[in-house]
Amino acid sequence: MTLAITPGTTTAVPAVVGADLRVPLVTGERVTYANLDHAASAPCLQEVRDAVDELLPWYASVHRGAGFASQVSTRVYEQARDRIRKFVGAHASDTVVFTRNTTDSLNLLARSVPKNTAVVLFDSEHHAALLPWRGPNVQRVPAPSSSGAAVVALDRALAAAPVGPRLVIVTGASNVTGELWPVAELAKVARRHGARIALDAAQLAPHRPINARELGVDYIAFSGHKIYAPFGAGVLVGRADWLQQAQPYLVGGGATSKVTDHGDRLGVAWSAVPERHEAGSPNVVGVHALASACEILSRHWEQTVAHEQELLTRLQDGLRTVPGFRELAILTDADKVGVVSFTISGFDAGFLAAALSAEYGIGVRDGAFCAHVIVGRLVKQVGSHEERAVRASIGLGTTAEHVDRLVAALRTLVTEGP
Ligand code: PLP
Repeated sequence: MTLAITPGTTTAVPAVVGADLRVPLVTGERVTYANLDHAASAPCLQEVRDAVDELLPWYASVHRGAGFASQVSTRVYEQARDRIRKFVGAHASDTVVFTRNTTDSLNLLARSVPKNTAVVLFDSEHHAALLPWRGPNVQRVPAPSSSGAAVVALDRALAAAPVGPRLVIVTGASNVTGELWPVAELAKVARRHGARIALDAAQLAPHRPINARELGVDYIAFSGHKIYAPFGAGVLVGRADWLQQAQPYLVGGGATSKVTDHGDRLGVAWSAVPERHEAGSPNVVGVHALASACEILSRHWEQTVAHEQELLTRLQDGLRTVPGFRELAILTDADKVGVVSFTISGFDAGFLAAALSAEYGIGVRDGAFCAHVIVGRLVKQVGSHEERAVRASIGLGTTAEHVDRLVAALRTLVTEGP
């Protein structure tokens, strides 16, 4: 079935909480909040809120009690693993480890790879993907300017990588530009060189269906708060062997199957994955929200993609009419999700973001977006001396009015000056 989507309407896509939020301007007037910062954190879906409401009376500690509420929570928590496995098309043998967010997931993976694993990644990655890997075994490949060049660059880097375990880290969609990386092609190259590949899906998961088996990726990490669930839960899905051999990420209850007193020392038998890396009482409510968001999105991909692409075109067309506008781009040939980062010559990014908020009720992000290396390079390419840009990002809460308000506000700010 194809649903007809009228320009900018949000009725065909899942509703978000807070769509009618009103915020004060410097004038004292209150206006509807235009949230154009979905790439930072997406608003909660109404259906996610309903799912959370339903669980709240029942939540209790999981795996630890015979009480009814504990049984309910344990079932919800374990079912969430299957719901997420389905959402990303994981192999039945893959493990699903709950974490706090993508950063946590990628740090867990970094702690779990065998010693001397050769790691290859592009230097355009978000800090969450870039920083956990440091040392002589890490090759940081300068970000290429096209999808084809990315495949060639990875091939070269892996050909030069030392013998032994190898791992490639790649983002699915850039948090700076929204560009979609050629993940399936990169995974083929990785496979040819005997490397595993981990997908940072923080920006991809909210906007496009993912199928780990079709993409050929070994690990997938993403965050609840970027996929329309509240903060606090993230996930790492992937091959169990390295995670199973690794020391527990945190130590404590839940990660152990048996602790024995040997007088001068404790004997500890660690649990198998995924519990091995989930010490402490887990975030049952957050995990349920995350899994619910995944399921809701899965039912609406067609409408979601159409809605966002229509608004992205509207946004780009509008911004191109703003004098001095320069859009940042890494992969110049790639399709993108609804993220546009830009500079406006003669204007400070921080000033623009503050004025958009105070005078127009518009939320955007400014700065270097936790990707300092690539933002520093891209802003120079567009002739800016600041290492900062403005980022507008679209999601299910965005309307045509939000986009038009941003464009009109920027045109006014640029015309009237700071
Ligand atoms: N990876 C990408 C591409 C991101 O955009 C982000 C957050 O902006 C992260 C990783 C880190 O996500 P979190 O802050 O939820 O750990």
